[in-house]
Parts: sequence; C-alpha cells; structure tokens
Amino acid sequence: MSKIPPFDLSEQYKIIGDEVNAAVLAVLASGHYIGGAAVETFEQQFAHYIGTSESIACNSGTDALYLALRALDIKPGDEVITTPFTFIATAEVVSAIGATPVFVDIEAHTFNLDLDRVQAAITERTRAILPVHLFGQPVDMTRLMAIAQAHNLAVIEDCAQAVGAEWAGQKVGGIGHIGCFSFYPTKNLGACGDGGAVTTNDPTIAATIRMLRDHGRRAGGYYHEAIGVNSRLDALQAAILQVKLRYLDIWNDQRRAVADRYQQMLQHVPGLVLPQEPAGGKGVWNQYTLRLLNTAPHQTPSNDGNHRDQVRQQLQAEGVSSMVYYPLPLHLQPIYKDQMQAPKSHPIAEQIANEVLSLPMFPEMLPEQQERVAYALKDCLSDRAA
Ligand SMILES: *Cc1c(COP(=O)(O)O)cnc(C)c1O
Repeated sequence: MSKIPPFDLSEQYKIIGDEVNAAVLAVLASGHYIGGAAVETFEQQFAHYIGTSESIACNSGTDALYLALRALDIKPGDEVITTPFTFIATAEVVSAIGATPVFVDIEAHTFNLDLDRVQAAITERTRAILPVHLFGQPVDMTRLMAIAQAHNLAVIEDCAQAVGAEWAGQKVGGIGHIGCFSFYPTKNLGACGDGGAVTTNDPTIAATIRMLRDHGRRAGGYYHEAIGVNSRLDALQAAILQVKLRYLDIWNDQRRAVADRYQQMLQHVPGLVLPQEPAGGKGVWNQYTLRLLNTAPHQTPSNDGNHRDQVRQQLQAEGVSSMVYYPLPLHLQPIYKDQMQAPKSHPIAEQIANEVLSLPMFPEMLPEQQERVAYALKDCLSDRAA
C-alpha cells in the first residue's frame, strides 16, 4: 500500500502545471526578474483579496513580520505580546530587533492566544500585540482590537497559516493595523520558493515598508534614508502566485471538506479531542490538528516518548505520516528559557505541546486516503488501550 504523506504539493502542480509553466515562461521572456509588473500586479490582486488598500510583497513571512515591527518603530525596551505556541519566526523577529517578546498562554480549545491573559500582560512598555491565527483558525479579532484600542497598542496579525480565514465576515490580515503572510510552499497560498507579503490600510506604514524592503530607499536610485534590507519578491514567484491566487478559495473549500470528513470519521473515537472552527470565524485548515489524551493511565512513559509520540510512530509503521506542530513551546526553547527576566510557565501551551498531532491535510486528499488515516489511528488507539 502506498504511504500517505503529510501534504502533497505535486498533486496541485498536476492540476495547474500548464498555467504555472506559461506564467514562468512569460517572466523568463520578459527580462524583468526582480520587481516590475508581475510583482506590482500580484500586490494589487492580493490587497484586493484581503480587502486592504495596500499590500507589499517581500521575501518571506519572517521578513513580513520583521518589516511590520520596523515600520511601527518598535525598539529595544519595547514589549510585544505574543503566543508561545507558534513557529519560532513569530517571536524571533521581535528579539531580532532587540525588543522583548512577552509570552501569554493559549486557550486549549483554539490553540490561540488567551485574550483574558493578554489584558493582564499589558504594561507601560507594551507597544504591540502579535496574535497568530494558528493552523488557519482565526483569533477573536473583535475582542482583541477592543483590548488594543483601550491601551493604544498596535496589532500585527501573523496570518502565515491563515490566508483567506475570516473573523466576523472580514479577512484576517485586514483587521489589525498590519497583516503578515507567508508564501512558503506548504502554506495555503504557496510559492515555488520563499515569499511573503504585508497588508495594511495605512499608506504611511505601506510606504515605510516599501522603503525598508529595498535598502531604505524610496523609488530606486541611490539615496538611502533608513537602514533597510533586501527583501524583494522575485518576479517568477509573483507570476506563480498570481496563478495560484485564482484557486485559493477553491483549495480552502477543499481543505474545509477534508476537515469535515475527518470530523465525521473521528467524532466518536475515545481519547481524541478534535479541532473546532471558532464560532464567529471561518478557518482555512492549514493543518488538521487534534489532541491525543492519554486514556491508558497504567502506561508509563518510555524511551520512545509520550503517548502521542508512540501513536505517531505506530501510524508511521502503518504508512501514515503525521506531524507535531509544535513539540516545544517557545518559552522553553533553548534560546528563550534562560533569557527571560521572569521565567514563567505557560501550562496550557506545555500540555498542548505534548498532546497535538497534525494529520495529513491537503486540498486534493481523497476520502479513501482519509479512511486509511482514520482506520490506522483507531487501530493504534485500541491496541494501546487493550
Ligand atoms: C511559516 C510561518 C512563519 C514564517 O514564514 P516564512 O515564509 O517561512 O518565513 C511565521 N509564522 C508562522 C505562524 C508560520 O507558520
């Protein structure tokens, strides 16, 4: 039996390959490889899609976050409130500019920032809140914006996993002051290489980001007014992204259908907590991540890790790949654990990191493939309970 991969990018290429090839060849023939019409057109289309007046393409999601913090002039000594349960890039950029990430624990049922705790973490040094719409499920942006407004804080949305997700009918990335997107190949809108974008309705922020992404200069030329970076998007990637953007809503709907089928197949399995779309929001299922509760208390942890790790190994042996996003919360990472002035524990994030398992998820996934995943998972769990 063939193996089931965690995602399969070649399936997508089979469907849109002709269009992608034509777009790539057109760029090659044009002789414009950096910036130019392909990038500008993509920026306009992406801003239109998110519902902002501006979008600025850049080299990665990490750079998008970095440029956002720089444009807000966040400096050493400033605090940025964010989640410990995310990819390192979210906090890394805050540290890279010399500011301090302040981690706040998450909610167990959404894996996203716990907004009650956000309120309590605000100090006179807090400059911004950096929520992550993890796995494609939106944060309650109505409530988060109210907290930010009451304290005069900027909101930078990390939308790397959530392109197309909505809160209260509005796309994420267009609700906070700045939205940051990644076009890493496995994201819902993936380039064939690195890429990213920033979205905003603020023309001053947009102009600053355009300047910073191109060596601190305004419109080409050799006059530099800030220490910037080289974070331009390649024309080839922009042309590919233009093609893929046309399919994004279809793919997001397909992911939703895959998630619905998993819910049906797994709803009565003991020992699992299935992910939920938050009421008031529309998720885009970059991952289908469930929790594995240890229902076999007589089992002691072995060298092979915890219950979740053992289930994962057993699935692998049955030809089903799965992933752990993320095994170690950021406040416990080697780079952060000794550095925090006041080491804090974030018990929900710590517990969740031991329980999560992301099942294979891609738009083209077939019901038969999902049946195999569900069957293998049920099999492992009943073996272990016996
Ligand atoms: C992927 C990702 C990033 C970084 O994006 P890159 O394009 O890989 O730099 C940032 N934050 C989150 C939550 C991500 O998943």
